[in-house]
Amino acid sequence: MYKRVLVKLSGEQLQGRFESGFDAERAAWIAKEINKITDHDTQVVVMIGGGNYARGAQLAGGGVQRVSADNIGMLATMMNAIALADVFEASGVPARALTNIKADQVVDQFTHRRALSHLSKGRVVVVAGGIGRPYLTTDTAAVSLALELECDLIIKATKVDGVYDADPVSYGDATKYDKLTLQEAVERPDVRVMDKAAIALAADHKQAILVCKLLTEGNLAAAAAGEPVGTVISVS
Ligand code: UDP
Repeated sequence: MYKRVLVKLSGEQLQGRFESGFDAERAAWIAKEINKITDHDTQVVVMIGGGNYARGAQLAGGGVQRVSADNIGMLATMMNAIALADVFEASGVPARALTNIKADQVVDQFTHRRALSHLSKGRVVVVAGGIGRPYLTTDTAAVSLALELECDLIIKATKVDGVYDADPVSYGDATKYDKLTLQEAVERPDVRVMDKAAIALAADHKQAILVCKLLTEGNLAAAAAGEPVGTVISVS
């Protein structure tokens, strides 16, 4: 059982039944799964994406500057964090949203000390705004945050149950990796589960990542308990 884990959720995972935006039913389901982790006294940090509303790389163009588009993407993560922390609380999972972009009126500013204080009180910390700078994704922000908060493991919750050598949705014969080294994950072009900047940062600092399917009940808790679900990407 790990002491502290970081769960990376993409915005898309919050849209649930909808084409975009926030599905409170899906968020409540996620709350139940997160609760199974905190029940065992493992602290949980969530880095939330924003792709259900906006992704900078897609939005930029036609006059919208990339920096503006990325700022909009970061604002999207804030909308998710606010709603997700509310649903967590309503589901009996104490939680606080913190943001890395300044928005005092809507979400408390992230500080290292504030995050640790919430965690020590048994609250899930939902972090918005990525790193707070453009040209980055919430995957890279997740690795940076896991390092900053000394998380034992990053759980990257995905649509499929691990890392494959090809997209298993398009290729029925794709093979799943049970284990990969961080170095392999950086070097292999077929490993695209997180952006390379994120994996390279993890590799530099020997930060373990576990990739597993979000929508399998008990998967997050199993990952946080050190059980072999999904694909483990670690130093050896
Ligand atoms: N973003 C950014 N800096 C960060 C994190 C995110 O500029 O540190 C922007 C970027 O435009 C990104 C968007 O916010 O596309 C939403 O994040 P992401 O695409 O990682 O969300 P996800 O795909 O996980 O839902």
